[in-house]
Amino acid sequence: MIDVRFGVKVESVSESDSGALTTVTDVDTGARKIISSKYVGACDGASSKVRTSLSIPLDGGPTPGFVLLVHFKSTDLSRIRKQGQFWHLFFLVGGHMGGALIAQNEIDTWTVHMFLPLDADPDKIDSHEAVYTVLGGLGEKYRITIDEILVRSTFRPNVAVARSYISPKGHAYLAGDSAHQNIPTGGYGMNMGIADAWDLGWKVCCPNLHFFSILSHTSISSIIRVWP
Ligand SMILES: Cc1cc2nc3c(=O)[nH]c(=O)nc-3n(C[C@H](O)[C@H](O)[C@H](O)COP(=O)(O)OP(=O)(O)OC[C@H]3O[C@@H](n4cnc5c(N)ncnc54)[C@H](O)[C@@H]3O)c2cc1C
Repeated sequence: MIDVRFGVKVESVSESDSGALTTVTDVDTGARKIISSKYVGACDGASSKVRTSLSIPLDGGPTPGFVLLVHFKSTDLSRIRKQGQFWHLFFLVGGHMGGALIAQNEIDTWTVHMFLPLDADPDKIDSHEAVYTVLGGLGEKYRITIDEILVRSTFRPNVAVARSYISPKGHAYLAGDSAHQNIPTGGYGMNMGIADAWDLGWKVCCPNLHFFSILSHTSISSIIRVWP
């Protein structure tokens, strides 16, 4: 069974020949604790504390640019769907790929992606203006009625892969964005992460695999080493 603990931050992971020690902090009380385990699954995203504290190098890095996301509500469908119904719409701005509009629920919730050069200051870009600019594409700003700006954020697309998905002593396994990071195009990130977790899950939990490891005098981690 899985024991889920919310409000707990992983500070670092170290490993010995027999297992792993994970130092965690309770974010409310600040109390620190060390958890001892046979294995650690590093499902902690692109900035993975598990990967960095075990000094597993990451090859690759960020692409030269970043993206401003504006998540908003609008029922101005006659304007938004002027060209017809869509799921993702991509726009040229200034002769290059400038942005995208994503229909989150096909009714009233949308996200604009505004692709920006590295030297742009997103704090100087008003959320409404970002929407109008992206929707305008190569032409003038395209104004729609925005009912509410829900949230805005920025992200930097990365293309990177960990040099090993297994820690040096074989007790930590990277999965998802901690192991590999893709640009959102193509929808590989979450899909690959789910595949990693499924593959790792059955290998760590499978009783037959543990039985095989005893029979063949091999460690379970060497069997899991078919992990990339
Ligand atoms: C704009 C955008 C669009 C995308 N669209 C798609 C798409 O259409 N299809 C697709 O397949 N993928 C898509 N992706 C990629 C996808 O979101 C990621 O690949 C996926 O979320 C990675 O999952 P993960 O569980 O490995 O990491 P994350 O989703 O980053 O989860 C990591 C978790 O670990 C927690 N965590 C981190 N550090 C610590 C710590 N020290 N202690 C405790 N907890 C910690 C975080 O709070 C988080 O909950 C998109 C990404 C972006 C940015």
